[in-house]
Amino acid sequence: MKKLHVVAGLLAALMMAVAAGCGGGSKDASKEQKVLKVGTEPTFAPFEFQEKDSKEFAGFDMDLARALGKKMGMKVEIQNMGFDALIPALNSGNIDMVAAGMSITDERKKAVTFSDPYYTSGLTIVVTKDNNEIKSLKDLEGKKIAVQIGTTGADKAAKVPGAKVTSFNTNAEVFLELENKGVDAVIIDKPVAAYYMTKEGKDKDKMVGETMDAESYGFAFKKDSKLAADVNKALAELKKDGEYDKIYTKWFGKAPAAK
Ligand code: GLN
Repeated sequence: MKKLHVVAGLLAALMMAVAAGCGGGSKDASKEQKVLKVGTEPTFAPFEFQEKDSKEFAGFDMDLARALGKKMGMKVEIQNMGFDALIPALNSGNIDMVAAGMSITDERKKAVTFSDPYYTSGLTIVVTKDNNEIKSLKDLEGKKIAVQIGTTGADKAAKVPGAKVTSFNTNAEVFLELENKGVDAVIIDKPVAAYYMTKEGKDKDKMVGETMDAESYGFAFKKDSKLAADVNKALAELKKDGEYDKIYTKWFGKAPAAK
């Protein structure tokens, strides 16, 4: 009886060794791919939006997140949520990384860990084409402004004396409110406004004033997550091997300015 046990035990050990060996032998093909759960708010073209019919996530951030995942050997899964839900989702562990044109701010740094910056942005004012009154931030005093909830644009609008600020969940609603004349102006990230001016906003709206508040976008992680270092390493590799430039040029029509 004892002997049998020993044989069975040996057999089991052998089978395990074979199984492990197989896994190790063809490492890349059979390795369980770890999943990178990415959260975004996809009304922020050209950084993130959903393709009309397929609803597939597209944009600069989405391509970059997928390229980072590939570098790290991780499978990227993208989740759609409200912009103000992204940081809570990191902290509850529902997502591992935010890719949402999120500006690196001191306030947010208290709650999350950011990657190295991957894009330089800033804010702008958008009004309808027929508006000749608003030309700068000063002109917004006492006016009605639409913003996306939880954004740096919302923070900026909150500081305009006497302004009545309305917050919306999506930027689609923000622009609609402007075009329906529910508000006088919008404060939003400049590259997103610029892109919108080449699309739906073309004949309706215009950008006015100087670019405000140089901001850098970073990917965000749960505070002190080790993933940030891995992403920084992968991002540096993408910059070095030309993949970052390729993705940048795809969405912005030109290579990034040399640093
Ligand atoms: N960059 C802005 C922010 O971080 C807006 C981001 C967004 O609307 N997706 O608040």
